[in-house]
Amino acid sequence: MMQRLSGRLAALLLSLSTSLAMAQTLSLTFDDGLNPDKTPQAAQWNQQLLEGLGQASIKAMVFPSLARTGGDAGLALVRNWGLQGHAVGNHTASHRSLADPALSLQDFIADVELAEASLRTMPQWTPMLRFPYLKEGDTLEKRDGLRRWMQSAGYRAAPVSIDASDWYYNQVYAAWLAQGRPEQAQRVKAAYIRHMLDRAAYYDGLARQVLGRSPAHVMLLHTNGLNAAALPELIAAFVAQGWRFVSPSEAFQDPLYTEPVNTLPAGESVVWAHAQLQQRPGLRYPAEDDVYERPLLQAQGLLPDSLKP
Ligand SMILES: [Zn+2]
Repeated sequence: MMQRLSGRLAALLLSLSTSLAMAQTLSLTFDDGLNPDKTPQAAQWNQQLLEGLGQASIKAMVFPSLARTGGDAGLALVRNWGLQGHAVGNHTASHRSLADPALSLQDFIADVELAEASLRTMPQWTPMLRFPYLKEGDTLEKRDGLRRWMQSAGYRAAPVSIDASDWYYNQVYAAWLAQGRPEQAQRVKAAYIRHMLDRAAYYDGLARQVLGRSPAHVMLLHTNGLNAAALPELIAAFVAQGWRFVSPSEAFQDPLYTEPVNTLPAGESVVWAHAQLQQRPGLRYPAEDDVYERPLLQAQGLLPDSLKP
């Protein structure tokens, strides 16, 4: 009896440890923020995003850029994220790319500091920097100079492992809604969720190749109308495929995000950057863009005329 029980126990523990080892973990980060002075639905979308996260008991992180939030009304929306326990990071004031040769290191640093002055009083403020366009510098001087500055200023970089084109699907989704075609918008939303599952599977597979393991993933999303509408379905779709959600503060402890990757120009998904450093064949550049998604949507009859080239 004892022997049979312990045999069963061993089998149970084995299946448990196997499923834990197989479980892919994921955290959600949302860039940019919303400006109620420019976008009438800003407060509603912000509320929908927070409700979607709250209902799934997921803690996320928001990276506002002052160029996207505007003034006090947009910052009040950011504050709601902090009040609900989501971390608040920095995405610069003017949302300029550090890979832009016209932008100096000193001006970029000043831009980070300008945003911090508005964000550091937020609840859950966390000195982590999300680079606009995921660009971490076009020269060695800028890339390493910024890394030295971050160290001295107590900042950490906040890379992503899973990059995708949610911003483009949002454009297509919004265009159908603007044309009074909600049924087409719903089909775009479904295509969007398939796209995100596909990109997550791709970057997890690439990570297993270049790191030899599945890391705690960090996904890039934006505060937009599509994510406001799709978040509960998006979360459910990932859970159904065996993904487990953790907070970004937990995911960012993975060594994948603490060790800099010395590509140049620097940036993109950190998994992609590792793959590039290892000169893996078959990497496309840009890693993610509308040029890949447009033909897919067109083939499904989901590209509105207004967005056809
Ligand atoms: Zn951004």
